[in-house]
Amino acid sequence: MNNEQLKSLIRTIPDHPKPGILFRDVTTLISHGEGFRATINNMTEPFFEKGIEAVVGIEARGFILGGAMADKLGVGFVPVRKKGKLPFDTISQSYQLEYCTDELEMHTDSIREGEKVLIVDDLIATGGTLEAASKLVRNLGGNIIGAAFIVDLPDLGGSSKCESLNIPCHSLMAFEGD
Ligand code: AMP
Repeated sequence: MNNEQLKSLIRTIPDHPKPGILFRDVTTLISHGEGFRATINNMTEPFFEKGIEAVVGIEARGFILGGAMADKLGVGFVPVRKKGKLPFDTISQSYQLEYCTDELEMHTDSIREGEKVLIVDDLIATGGTLEAASKLVRNLGGNIIGAAFIVDLPDLGGSSKCESLNIPCHSLMAFEGD
């Protein structure tokens, strides 16, 4: 399946979780067997020859995608989780949401110094989540080779922010507006 066909499998829910937001719901894509396989193949493809040594997935949809991509690349999977979920020693990074701040965490021993890392999530909007995850990975000594998403919302500036952080950003499709 090509990326246009994959795009048609994403469901858009207006006014979720609040008025004015068009929520791009990827559950309809990942529950489609052929669609899920093509999504994983197309997201992984740019990274086959890049020497990736670990896939870092962002809770929660980044776990579904990142786990399958790590398997394809033959490397391990490392979770970035919301505050308070990881059982061992952690480092934290807070980030700004529209009306509040939130915190992401990683285990202190989850990345080796100089390890080549691919960061994965389902969607990039403002890029705040990616920025926080990238700070955690870099604080642990990781070398971020790229970031992969199904969806880019370019009007919200996240993919530009990603490039300004020196992280090549790959997404399968874009939706105009927010
Ligand atoms: P941001 O930090 O603004 O780039 O937001 C990215 C995170 O929020 C991702 O984990 C997405 O799953 C989620 N997200 C933000 N906006 C949307 C949207 N319009 N539809 C679906 N998920 C979204």
